[in-house]
Amino acid sequence: GLVVEGAEKSFGRTGVLHGVDMSVPEGSLGALLGPSGCGKTTLLRLVAGFERLDSGTIRIGERVLAQGRGSHVRPERRGVGVVPQEGALFPHMSVARNVAFGLGRGWRERVGGRTRRRARTEEVLELVGLTGYAARMPHELSGGQQQRVALARALAPEPALIMLDEPFNALDPALRSGLREEVRQVLRTAGVTALLVTHDPEEALSTADSVALMREGEIMQSGTPREVYERPGDAGLAKYLGETV
Ligand code: ATP
Repeated sequence: GLVVEGAEKSFGRTGVLHGVDMSVPEGSLGALLGPSGCGKTTLLRLVAGFERLDSGTIRIGERVLAQGRGSHVRPERRGVGVVPQEGALFPHMSVARNVAFGLGRGWRERVGGRTRRRARTEEVLELVGLTGYAARMPHELSGGQQQRVALARALAPEPALIMLDEPFNALDPALRSGLREEVRQVLRTAGVTALLVTHDPEEALSTADSVALMREGEIMQSGTPREVYERPGDAGLAKYLGETV
């Protein structure tokens, strides 16, 4: 699973993360929940390798991805997939080519051959319920279908960790809960360790196996959805959880 220990990060004089400790057990779905500006995206970018830590450690299982300023595995070597908020697909590429792009060069070299790539592409499209959509272009798909393609692309190279950054934000609220449940099923079937980043308490509490509550660059509380909901650490958290539930 993912383990973050004592992660600190500042931009210039602005301290954004102040010693973040967080973990997501292997094969489970964790949520990182917090209001806008609390540092969620910064933590995601550190785990993905797009930013460097000031201090602390990030590892997946025993494998250290980053430690302090000194040691830093490059993003493409991390085995970490990211599903962004929206607009993740190349508009000029078919669904199949978008997904195959996720396999990159490394995957081809490791597992071998165009046939294998094609088979893997079909496999992940089936996993997200889009069998038969390989030749479509992104603009021919609904927003929810586009997000499922983005998920398929991130899952294709069999990442050790997948992170979803507010993946349902751009969608019609009426479609959100259905897609949430689908995504949860897909992640479970894939058996992948996943982190859902969201500002929506209802989304975190209803979807994830565990929730880490972030505020102003610190994890205030973590536990199962039930633990966090029933015993919020303080009045402020109770209010925050109550507001959008
Ligand atoms: P949102 O949900 O709105 O994206 P967030 O919880 O993801 O918010 P971050 O994007 O991580 O929050 O930002 C946390 C704080 O760090 C903000 O105050 C932001 O202005 C600041 N910040 C983020 N990136 C940088 C940067 N590159 N340079 C300076 N400040 C930054």
